[in-house]
Amino acid sequence: MSKRDYYEVLGVDRSASAEEIKKAYRKLAMKYHPDRNPDDKNAEEKFKEASEAYEILSDREKRALYDRHGHAGVDPMFGQGGFSWSDFTHASEFEDILGDLFGSFFGGRSRSSRSRRGSARRGKDVTIPLHLSLEEIATGVEKKIRYKRYEKCEKCDGTGAKNRNAVQTCPDCGGAGEVRRVQRSFLGSFTTVTGCPRCQGEGQIITERCHACRGEGLVHGEQTVSVRVPAGVSSGNYIPIRGQGSAGPRGGPNGDLIVHIEEKEHEFFERVGDNIIYTLPISFPQAALGAEIEIPTLTDTIKLKIPEGTQSGKVFRVRDRGIPHLNGRGRGDQLVRVIVWVPEKLSKDDKKWIEKLAKSENLMPPQPGKGFLSKVKEFLGL
Ligand SMILES: [Zn+2]
Ligand SMILES: [Zn+2]
Repeated sequence: MSKRDYYEVLGVDRSASAEEIKKAYRKLAMKYHPDRNPDDKNAEEKFKEASEAYEILSDREKRALYDRHGHAGVDPMFGQGGFSWSDFTHASEFEDILGDLFGSFFGGRSRSSRSRRGSARRGKDVTIPLHLSLEEIATGVEKKIRYKRYEKCEKCDGTGAKNRNAVQTCPDCGGAGEVRRVQRSFLGSFTTVTGCPRCQGEGQIITERCHACRGEGLVHGEQTVSVRVPAGVSSGNYIPIRGQGSAGPRGGPNGDLIVHIEEKEHEFFERVGDNIIYTLPISFPQAALGAEIEIPTLTDTIKLKIPEGTQSGKVFRVRDRGIPHLNGRGRGDQLVRVIVWVPEKLSKDDKKWIEKLAKSENLMPPQPGKGFLSKVKEFLGL
């Protein structure tokens, strides 16, 4: 059977705008959607045909191909630029349209079935910050955290009612938790299903409230949990702990605890990615003569060799002394930036020594001329 022209299927002009095409498809989709035409083969075919036409004509590239080559331009049997149902990747907009249409008319039943009798609501998630030092991040750490959350009211066992007799089936919905209403519109009549406003979908109402929780079924409480933090985390990472958030109303399940990692500023280390930067001040004699200096790392101390003639600003890379990569092997490095320290105050004796040194031409920085640029570059570590 040969395919009908897509424009004909949607009943629009070849010059139809995107908006007109969307409108036309909406109309057909409403008319022929399988949910509204159960067991109607013909309607199902029509729905498929319209959906396929819309899929092509709503996509600017595919529409252009179709305009130029007809079905051959967009049919996978003809290769190139083809269209297939399995390749329904730009379907998000498509789904939106259907979601709009059928979600609202059928009470959003595909999205949730929250307003069912007895389906107690889940408790709120609780978010707390966890401040960690770089040392803790470098090794990974287990932390005990105390935090506030809602707990089930023990007095009423979370029901919110003063006693058993104070709970009644909701008279508005008869305990169903939802109300059906027939709505007329220019497209016909539809049944809408919404959560019952009187009982908020719970199917029950309370005639006399529990005094301890004022009918909420929840009270303020505190909880302590132990959180295992892997090495290598950084600010912005979070660890969800299922079921440790607030209790749900009316005996509903607990929400989650979300632990947000926040990195504390370090006294002398700076983190860049998984590398650690450490600035090491050295004296002019150490820079000139070379030295071996003990420096801290995140986990211990090491000896760093400074070769003679080291320029201020030079960066030494100490491998594998940074932060371990999260979820991976290996770790960052420690970068040691050396600066030559200039004393701000001198004793008389020191002054004499330095004045003597100042006379030595070898201690003067290079003047513009031969080799100047390369020396400056070396100084800047370029
Ligand atoms: Zn109700
Ligand atoms: Zn209570």
